[in-house]
Amino acid sequence: MKVGLTTRTIAADAGAANTAARCLKDGGLVAFPTETVYGLGADATNADAIARLYQAKGRPSFNPLIAHVESVAAALDIAVFDELSLRLANAFWPGPLTLVLRKTTRCPVAELATAGLETIAVRVPAHPVARRILRTFGKPVVAPSANISGHVSPTLAEHVQSDLSGRIDLIVDGGSVAVGVESTIVSCLGEPMLLRPGGLPRAAIEAVLGKSLLNVADDAEASTSHPLAPGMLESHYAPRTPLRLNATHIEAGEAVLAFGNALPAGIEQASIVLNLSERGDPVEAAANLFGHLRALDARGASGIAAMPVLMDGLGEAINDRLRRGAVPAT
Ligand code: AMP
Ligand code: MG
Repeated sequence: MKVGLTTRTIAADAGAANTAARCLKDGGLVAFPTETVYGLGADATNADAIARLYQAKGRPSFNPLIAHVESVAAALDIAVFDELSLRLANAFWPGPLTLVLRKTTRCPVAELATAGLETIAVRVPAHPVARRILRTFGKPVVAPSANISGHVSPTLAEHVQSDLSGRIDLIVDGGSVAVGVESTIVSCLGEPMLLRPGGLPRAAIEAVLGKSLLNVADDAEASTSHPLAPGMLESHYAPRTPLRLNATHIEAGEAVLAFGNALPAGIEQASIVLNLSERGDPVEAAANLFGHLRALDARGASGIAAMPVLMDGLGEAINDRLRRGAVPAT
């Protein structure tokens, strides 16, 4: 899948943050150094930009992404903190710690970025170049590692070039990054739980908490101690309304998730039809996926019938998500 963009590389000098912020504002994809690895940034509030980010990385599934912000104050705008999570934020931000929290009601981050979850992963990175870009842009930026899915994470701008040249808009070259491992992820939805070990050691976090972190692997109670996020461990969103896949005929009263302009037989019996992309574009479809699913789910229909989506490009990730959504939530 060749995207055919012209990828510009610029030095991380005084003007770089402005150039990067302008590019993000236009929905562009910008690789920049963070203290963990090079991140591939997109405007977290722009579903279309995020769809293109998944496409550029060639991800076969929509994993929720981490929203990067410039300060604790900016994090408070998008996520709900309690006493412990605020203590962690104040102790370790900026730095390689990601907190999973509930979204605020005013959180502007696109559903595609959180894979439709009510929760959000947030981090304030410490790298000066990342900080300048975030401060100048002024909105949350999603930034998974700037590599093709399945390749190793980049610690040099040259690594980003060799993976993503022609697929992204801009690379801000800030030399080699220090840590080279991902951020530590802690869920603070209930008792603090380590979801992924990373650049910040567990012991440092436990010292600040004054108690041990729960462990995903050891904690059989994980789903009961985190009641707000059913299915959190697989990080997936599923509609409550039964979801039927590859529908080629519509039953009376069904809510229809359409794709393309050739609608199935029985479409006139649908209670509502929302089209992922009338022109059959998988990038547009990805940007609409979670919003449409949620809107159809809210209709209280007997079922949601999803039309087949081609496996082209992001179609694979869309089908992966629909398949998971078709398994009833536990
Ligand atoms: P990265 O590839 O470093 O950006 O990592 C993103 C990681 O954050 C993945 O392992 C996700 O599963 C995890 N993550 C992001 N958002 C959430 C969330 N709301 N709940 C649980 N895990 C999350
Ligand atoms: Mg990665």
